[in-house]
Amino acid sequence: MNALAPAKILKQHLIDPEICIRCNTCEETCPVDAISHDSNNYVVDASICNHCMACVPPCPTGAIDNWIKVLADKAYPLEDQFAWEALPAEQADIDAGTNEETIEDTSAAADESASSQDGFGLDGVPSTGAGSRIAPKSAAHPYVNLYTHKNPVTATVVGNYRVTGDATDSDIRHIVLDFASTSFPILEGQSIGILPPGADSSGRPYHARQYSIASPRDGERPRYNNLSITVKRVTNDYDGNPAQGICSNYLCDLKKNDTVQVIGPFGNTFLMPNHADANIIMICTGTGSAPMRAMTERCRRLSKEMAFTGRLMLFFGARTQRELPYFGPLMSLPQNFIDINLALSREHGRPKRYVQDLIKERADDVFSLLESDNTCIYVCGLKGMEEGVLEALEHAARQGGKSWPEVHARLKTQGRLHVETY
Ligand code: NAP
Repeated sequence: MNALAPAKILKQHLIDPEICIRCNTCEETCPVDAISHDSNNYVVDASICNHCMACVPPCPTGAIDNWIKVLADKAYPLEDQFAWEALPAEQADIDAGTNEETIEDTSAAADESASSQDGFGLDGVPSTGAGSRIAPKSAAHPYVNLYTHKNPVTATVVGNYRVTGDATDSDIRHIVLDFASTSFPILEGQSIGILPPGADSSGRPYHARQYSIASPRDGERPRYNNLSITVKRVTNDYDGNPAQGICSNYLCDLKKNDTVQVIGPFGNTFLMPNHADANIIMICTGTGSAPMRAMTERCRRLSKEMAFTGRLMLFFGARTQRELPYFGPLMSLPQNFIDINLALSREHGRPKRYVQDLIKERADDVFSLLESDNTCIYVCGLKGMEEGVLEALEHAARQGGKSWPEVHARLKTQGRLHVETY
């Protein structure tokens, strides 16, 4: 009697449509273009995905980290994935166990995926992108995905303030959300998702938009169950044509006592160190300043009780002083508390400056901080700044007589370099 050929089983990489906030990070990260999207879902092409895991650590929600066993010749096609509202169950013929299994898993993806969502404090873990895949060793434990599209939490707007000057079209808002008695634990560096009301042209509810939290863990107001976000009103598309951003305009127009639907929190690596003598280098542009405000305010509160004694160095880029969010409050911080470096790119009568130019100018000071294992670096803002900032850090390392590839690798494996750009 002929033995049946063993059925090949594949661990198919899939994106959970219920958790995904459609931020495009996975599609941008995938080195083999296996990820694409339509107006409904982000999907993975099983015939292209090589389980390299590059997309998993940067995903803010963990929606990317799903692996379902399927018969290799019955992998879910893209058309199915585009239509899903939830992940499917494992295929029935695999559940029934009627096939001999030959696991066709081309990499350590499954093992790695199990640890990638909670891999804090691990040392020596390699990183795929420019930044670390792990949080700083001393970071506090973050809670993630407590509230999802299916069970969002309702928050009340208790403040909506403009943080850019009046004499500019750039309308950036500091919005404070209160959670009343609902637990919503967060850490500096995490983000939340906002579900804007309404539906797209095909009648589907709008998906969530992600915003970094701009307040420290103990509340925008200390010991209050609230948090803040920094939102820029979008009035143009990427080509400069007029376009009203759905969620940003909804948020910027909110009034006190309005309610919003919130999901999250998200993020388990872009977290601040939690020890008193840590140093923090913060590099940001525009609204990428939100997590830097959260970290700075955390340190300011701690420093009052001498519970933070490290150094803070900030490189902050905006077109003009008027367009730089939080300019007033930032300038009122004591110079011996934070070393502030502002890069203004379109200030009349002044040369164009980017954050990377200032990092190069301050190369000696940056290098002396880089040398300390107590120093963590955070980069947040425009995608375009990433390359220039890394070059500037390389310049600082070289000035100090160190090999950048070695310094860079050490920063990444020690959870000390964190990059979040869009
Ligand atoms: P923006 O006003 O467009 O730009 C801020 C500054 O960055 C300007 O001075 C700009 O200069 C400069 N810049 C442009 N290209 C650069 C480059 N290659 N290297 C260095 N600097 C460069 O910024 P924005 O509109 O506020 O955007 C901030 C970004 O942060 C957005 O991509 C947003 O998605 C992201 N973000 C937001 C949040 C949030 O919670 N809201 C959180 C994380 C990240 P010029 O324009 O004069 O060239």
